[in-house]
Amino acid sequence: MQDVPRSKRFDDIYFSKENGLEESRFVFLQGNLLEERLPALKNITIAETGFGTGLNFLALWDLAEKTNPEIKIHYVSYEQYPLDKEAIRGALTPWSHIFSTKIDTYLNVYPMEVPGFHTIYVTDNIKLSLVFGDINETLPQTQNIAVDAWFLDGFTPAKNPEMWTETVFRNMARLSAKDATFATFTSAGFVKRGLHDAGFQVEKSKGFSNKRERLIGYWQGEGAKVSAIPKKVAIIGGGLAGCAAAYWLGQEGAEATIFEKGPVLAGGASGNPIGMVNPRFYKFPEEQGLYYMAAYSDAVTTYKNLAQSHDFGFRQCGALHLCTDEEKQERFEGLVENWCLPKHILEIVDAGTASELANIPLDKPALHLPQSAMVSPAALCQVLVNGSDVRLNTEFQQSDMNSNEYDAVVLTCGTGFKGFDMLNNKDLHTVRGQLTLIEATEETRKLQKSIHYGGYISPEIDNGHAVGATYQKWLDTEEAMEEDNAYNIEKLREAVSLREVKVIDARASMRVTTKQRFPLFGNLEEGVYCSLAHGSHGLSTVLKTTKALINPLEKSQLSL
Ligand code: SAM
Repeated sequence: MQDVPRSKRFDDIYFSKENGLEESRFVFLQGNLLEERLPALKNITIAETGFGTGLNFLALWDLAEKTNPEIKIHYVSYEQYPLDKEAIRGALTPWSHIFSTKIDTYLNVYPMEVPGFHTIYVTDNIKLSLVFGDINETLPQTQNIAVDAWFLDGFTPAKNPEMWTETVFRNMARLSAKDATFATFTSAGFVKRGLHDAGFQVEKSKGFSNKRERLIGYWQGEGAKVSAIPKKVAIIGGGLAGCAAAYWLGQEGAEATIFEKGPVLAGGASGNPIGMVNPRFYKFPEEQGLYYMAAYSDAVTTYKNLAQSHDFGFRQCGALHLCTDEEKQERFEGLVENWCLPKHILEIVDAGTASELANIPLDKPALHLPQSAMVSPAALCQVLVNGSDVRLNTEFQQSDMNSNEYDAVVLTCGTGFKGFDMLNNKDLHTVRGQLTLIEATEETRKLQKSIHYGGYISPEIDNGHAVGATYQKWLDTEEAMEEDNAYNIEKLREAVSLREVKVIDARASMRVTTKQRFPLFGNLEEGVYCSLAHGSHGLSTVLKTTKALINPLEKSQLSL
């Protein structure tokens, strides 16, 4: 008998005390005949209700490696109460010798435990979509998958009836591929009837170990329809949004060509030497706020993983957002209370703790984001386009859209939006931003966190600090201005007391934003998509937005 993890909330165990891995292999892999099926397939989509520790996912990966290492797997798993990495690592200890590096490989890309759809690439062949939230809400929001095998692994139905509802069964029917199979450890009568009523052929078979019976079966209807990812895609604009689109399309097997009219990638608003990855904060976990938080998780996780093999100035320094006035303090306190996120994602700290974390004196409490990171956006763009065809000094105009050379066009042209008629009626406008670089001194070098106060200062990099940034809707010059440096420094001095501040450089650029200050993305017309208006949060939003463009897994009210 093993000591296995138990959920206090559901008063149930995550897997069998006898041998969780053997149970997983027997119930889900054998129950879905995967040992026989995998060798004959080029790709497979598996969906699981209840991700827990990821034991079933690892068992499947292990089987695929042994039977068909070339197979492309999309594993979609639903989980309302995600475990943190430490709990997962602990729970999987009995099998660490079997899974060896797989546990680390998957935990390296495991998202933050924030609600939403998180798609990550665990290996070149394995895509994992972890969907955090109540399955009765998230499964109906799912689209564009045709599931070949279902692993039904909620807690026991008597203790966790929410995982075995008509909503779940009907949506399984909606999302099943032709001849999809399912398997589960339970043989509860209402589960059997629910699956049958939704259109599955259901049978009882021998259960694992001392369990008498389990349910297995298959989908009897037509298969769900999924359109294919376009093969050749033209991306218009080589800023962060364009490079992120190229990165994602490359992962999905498409051929991306970036057209950039300027001489370099990230020449516009994406080209600042230092940028911070932070979400926008919303007091309540509602649509836009949820979007930003999931995007933040996606960005930090992906950049951290890419940084293991590429240098783009990634540093997970963490951020302190100072409570500069009562309104902000209230918003941050509300956020912590309403979102109920673990402290390793966000927490409020008093001025003393903020000072200790920052390693310089601060006189205000702050919202602390331990995982927030800084990167060099221009260097990141170079990493993201790896493998794509990049055409610099090449303008792609509206008239080029009529060519048949590309199956799809993605407009990520930032301020170039004015050149495309289909964007003219959209709420898009430009905002100038100037960033000031100051010299690092003995005093400022101590700074360990990025500090945000309306403006921000970064920790030291290359003997300097970035101090940002102005937000000027009324200006459109890209010339840096001394008065803007003075403005940035004044705001810095109001928030952080520093003896000496010496400006060494400045950079101004035009960002694009919407009135709502929310990105504009989605399908404009057949074969034409856009990802625009990331404003000053592009480092966080571009990756999630990209995944929402073509055949998105998540139905969203926020995209076009
Ligand atoms: N497959 C997991 C593994 O390999 O470790 C074990 C899953 S455990 C038996 C059941 C999981 O369902 C738990 O992680 C639990 O948090 C999750 N769960 C319970 N109710 C849920 C709901 N309404 N929506 C989504 N997930 C839920």
